Amino acid sequence: MAGVSQPGPAAPGVAVIAVGSELLALGRADTNSPHIAAAMQRHGLAVRFTTVVGDDLDDLTDAVRHALARADLVVCTGGLGPTDDDRTRDVAAAVLGLPMHEAADVLAGIRERFGRRGLTMPEINRRQAMVPAGAIVVPNERGTAPGLWIPAGHRAMLLLPGPPREMVPMLEHALATHVAPQWGGGLIRQRALVVAGRSESWVDERAQPVYGPWRDEPLPIATTILASLGTVELHLSCRGTDDAALSRRLDAAVAALDAVLGDDVVNHDGRSLERTVGDLLAARGWRVALAESCTGGLVTTRLTDVAGSSTWVDRAVVSYSNAAKVEALGVPAALIAAHGAVSEPVAAAMAEGVRARAGVDVAVAITGIAGPGGGTAEKPVGLVCFAVTGARGTEVRTSRLTGDRAVVRSLAATTALDLLRRYVRASAPA
Ligand code: AMP
Ligand code: MG
Repeated sequence: MAGVSQPGPAAPGVAVIAVGSELLALGRADTNSPHIAAAMQRHGLAVRFTTVVGDDLDDLTDAVRHALARADLVVCTGGLGPTDDDRTRDVAAAVLGLPMHEAADVLAGIRERFGRRGLTMPEINRRQAMVPAGAIVVPNERGTAPGLWIPAGHRAMLLLPGPPREMVPMLEHALATHVAPQWGGGLIRQRALVVAGRSESWVDERAQPVYGPWRDEPLPIATTILASLGTVELHLSCRGTDDAALSRRLDAAVAALDAVLGDDVVNHDGRSLERTVGDLLAARGWRVALAESCTGGLVTTRLTDVAGSSTWVDRAVVSYSNAAKVEALGVPAALIAAHGAVSEPVAAAMAEGVRARAGVDVAVAITGIAGPGGGTAEKPVGLVCFAVTGARGTEVRTSRLTGDRAVVRSLAATTALDLLRRYVRASAPA
């Protein structure tokens, strides 16, 4: 990943510490941290870093010290249970230098919770009623471990239990009751430009001179570039208090990026390539047919993953063998004999064949060598020919894709979707 810039200095910084040895060694995923990050974002706060730490006193102490030195708000999740390995409460109090006392009302609440189930509270649960001086209890409707909001000068710590079903409603309560009054009022607005058919470095080379100065201007814009197979996403985020001003700022930023990235921009709202293609087809009232060889139906799968695709997908033929290309699509056998199955003339005949049979507005064909076998000096593994055909005629293209079989197939599917997108886009909507 390249081209990451930090949120503006005005954004209150949050550090998240996920506590639990099971998150490091037993394969339990830390799902709380991303959840907390998204919730903070909604409230205009930016998570600067997340730490996952085991149930070790020294490691946890270091993590809390570091987080308090770097962030306005430190959110810990996990380690609030009654057992010896639950240390978050003790560590937070120790690092902040706060004495703890047993809170009678909290203890009564825990006893009552056991009582409701006809049980007597085990003595070890008393630990969960310990509260650092100045802390406010965050009620837990779904478990015994109360959460804690601990003010510390201009900073604060929020301690939440680990089980997500307990943590989530408590987080919402704490955000509304404590976080919003202290740091709220900020808005974070975002855009995601999706770019296809270009490498991450190609995109950054053109986009960086445009977005570079933005972080030093009023209403600074933070940018992140994320590359995945065949597409690059450029995320913009801007923090402020005036929704309309943020929107204007981001609209202008998006327009400036559009000007340097041109037709390679798929959309400005993070939609998938296939959904974008579907929306373009729907806007024109067009239907598409596909003829897939080396992708074996991947393009069709991606298109039909989109809800509502029956409106604009007509059919697909997976014509893997030469015989299938001849019988199911009407590709002349002589054309295959003359040029080989992986060739632009054959790709064009496949697309035209499926379009004629389906009677649709547009058709796409893919034929290539996915590997690892089957390559020759003249036609190496990764060579893929594409064709798109419609009322404007047939366009062909050959790509030399690199990667293993799965990567070549995936890149070929993305390339086909992008060629279709460009072809459809070039025709005016109905
Ligand atoms: P606790 O007793 O508060 O440490 O929480 C223990 C339980 O919560 C375990 O069963 C964990 O699987 C779950 N848990 C703890 N931390 C997390 C986390 N960061 N993300 C998801 N689940 C968690
Ligand atoms: Mg734990």
